[in-house]
Amino acid sequence: MRVLAVASEIYPLVKTGGLADVVGALPPALRRLGVRVRTLVPGYPAVLAALPEAREVAVLPRLFGGDARILAGRVHGLDLLALDAPHLFARAGGPYADAAGADWPDNAQRFAALCRAGAAVALGALEDWRPDVVHAHDWQAGLVGAYVSSPKKRPPVVFTVHNLAFQGKFDAAVFAELGLPQGSFNVDGVEYYGGVGYLKAGLQYADRITTVSPTYATEITTAAWGMGLEGLLQRRSGVLSGILNGVDDGVWNPATDERIAATYDRATVARRLPNKAALQERLGLDGDPAAFLIGVVSRLTWQKGIDVLLDGVDGIVGRGAQLAVLGAGDAEFERRLRAAAAAHPGRIGCAFGYDESLAHLIQAGADALLVPSRFEPCGLTQLYALRYGAVPVVARVGGLADTVVDANEMALAAGVATGVQFYPVDAHMLDAAVGRAAALFADPRAWARLQANGMRADVSWRRPARRYASLYGEALASRAERRSRRANNGA
Ligand code: ADP
Repeated sequence: MRVLAVASEIYPLVKTGGLADVVGALPPALRRLGVRVRTLVPGYPAVLAALPEAREVAVLPRLFGGDARILAGRVHGLDLLALDAPHLFARAGGPYADAAGADWPDNAQRFAALCRAGAAVALGALEDWRPDVVHAHDWQAGLVGAYVSSPKKRPPVVFTVHNLAFQGKFDAAVFAELGLPQGSFNVDGVEYYGGVGYLKAGLQYADRITTVSPTYATEITTAAWGMGLEGLLQRRSGVLSGILNGVDDGVWNPATDERIAATYDRATVARRLPNKAALQERLGLDGDPAAFLIGVVSRLTWQKGIDVLLDGVDGIVGRGAQLAVLGAGDAEFERRLRAAAAAHPGRIGCAFGYDESLAHLIQAGADALLVPSRFEPCGLTQLYALRYGAVPVVARVGGLADTVVDANEMALAAGVATGVQFYPVDAHMLDAAVGRAAALFADPRAWARLQANGMRADVSWRRPARRYASLYGEALASRAERRSRRANNGA
């Protein structure tokens, strides 16, 4: 099977979030299942620099104000199609914003161009390659389905939402430039609260919709978490499903990790201790091997429940635990975390900014990893924690609910628990969860069992890749069935 993926980010070339990880990790995992993916991405400077020998495979004249072409090349084992459109993508700065953080004023045109190019490839613009299925990711690829909606022989479109909070909503005036049929500016098309909604269009025109965990797939059909799209998602719930993300188990493997003080595996968990000592030293925590050390690796935002954590820190310290926080984001949360660390020297240690090595050391050195998110489409840090033997203590939402088995009485008795969950997400329940985890930590056999269960869990891309492959197959089969029904009716 041939799949065209369309996305605005791909690891390791362009990354601002988990989207890039998925787009970069799925193709190699799918290849083992006989699914060949080519990924269309914008020709940002970093992408073109990585493809010095790319060859031109299509020309798209006058694409949103300039001539464009599609280049094909391979890098890091990925089969890429790059939309080379210098007037849209040849700029210093980020993929969505300039260096000062202001959104590019022509983002509507930039990503409509990506979608038009995707639709062109989907409908046969490349001489020697045509996809069976198109897989579009997030709002930046949301219009692909709209652009291929009318032609009869078009491949089915699978649309994946990585975070519903990012919606790509633009002024209605943009519609005239998109080249879509006039009739599509309505509630059953791309219109969204009076403007043009790219994510909304993605949901509207897709043959299949996925998001990155089964629980999040359900949550987003409710008013609480649908962010205005719950009505549409309810209507489309028959084609909506959740497929968990995997982790890159080459990068995140405690047995080979070069960023940590001592490597270990399931049979040598005691060798985590030098990592704990290194982490305590690095963050100015008391060098106490017996202290219950809780780690946090997170964006510092409301979504991640950092205010809930701050409200709970006195309780955590009151239980004799230590807290190691690595985060970047909201300045006010950073200020409050600094104040908490100053109030509890040796018990709370913080580091701010983006630090990949420290993120690894926290997973390898902390006894538990705390994730108090208010909502979490999938979440990766709890998956790393499982793999590294840091017992996850998580809010029971989204992908956190789906990936951690709570250590309740029955799960403990059955020997299947991997962590602790709490809900609702408030300081009281967080404190109770930390108390439950601390009690388990005080029982070395129970704790070792939790760690071993977590480290045995398969958090690789193997299972998710199989799910995507069968979803592509289903989408293809149901489109073929519709086509033959139409043909029969016409006959
Ligand atoms: P989200 O994508 O919503 O931020 P995820 O849990 O899906 O949340 O992914 C977060 C990723 O970013 C993980 O790989 C985590 O290790 C990493 N991360 C978050 N904050 C930092 C930081 N300050 N330094 C290094 N890595 C971080």
